[in-house]
Amino acid sequence: MIAVLNGILWLLRFAIGACVFSFFNVVIYRLPKEESVVHGRSHCMSCGRTLTAGELIPCVSYLIQGKKCRGCGEKISGRYFKVELAGGLAFACCGAYFGCGEYGLLSLRGLIAFAYLGILTIIALIDWDTRVIYDRFHILILLLGIAALWLFPEHSVTERLIGAAAVSLPMLLIAMAIEGAFGGGDIKLMAVSGFLLGWRSILIAMFLGLLFGSVYAIGMMAAKKLTRKDHFAFGPFLALGLAVALFYGDAIANWYLSLL
Ligand SMILES: [Zn+2]
Repeated sequence: MIAVLNGILWLLRFAIGACVFSFFNVVIYRLPKEESVVHGRSHCMSCGRTLTAGELIPCVSYLIQGKKCRGCGEKISGRYFKVELAGGLAFACCGAYFGCGEYGLLSLRGLIAFAYLGILTIIALIDWDTRVIYDRFHILILLLGIAALWLFPEHSVTERLIGAAAVSLPMLLIAMAIEGAFGGGDIKLMAVSGFLLGWRSILIAMFLGLLFGSVYAIGMMAAKKLTRKDHFAFGPFLALGLAVALFYGDAIANWYLSLL
């Protein structure tokens, strides 16, 4: 019986995460077009028909409808589904890793982590689409960093201030020397994330971001879809590195330092 209840609770956590990220899908789609994210009902991107409640259930509707619009039969982009799935998994992972809290859903530490993963997802996908990272998201991460002063006291203020400069400052210097090496949005992302995560994790995040970005670039060049001169958004790869570092940054850094 307890196992069943526990299962239901994990399903509930997944559902909450999927619902929140379902809203983030709206933000990712509408913000670059300067549309309101709260007004205006969700509609089919092809025929414009307003979606019914049954078509708005995260993850589920997409699968039940066979990945197509019920009205016009046009294929629905798989990205919405993937983002909702990522949201459900993110909420569950934050609960498992940072604790489920006294009400049994998510601890405050988990909430900070989940909010950070949400912001990273929005940043990554808007940057991928438009190559812009909005300043408002840097401010939100900074606010999470300030909340983390109380909720993650294992990282001292000094550690966080070093973290804020450890990656962003070298990036800034490189960007000043080589035009277009890094975008201002990327540099600010690493500054505020360094304050949130501390210097160990931000160094690991940068290393992972460069690794993921390089693998992508080499893969695309091998497939002749990208040439040496092409620029591509680096934000999504940094965001991926930051997401991994949120959970394992300190562990990877300490393991590496123990080898020295
Ligand atoms: Zn349609």
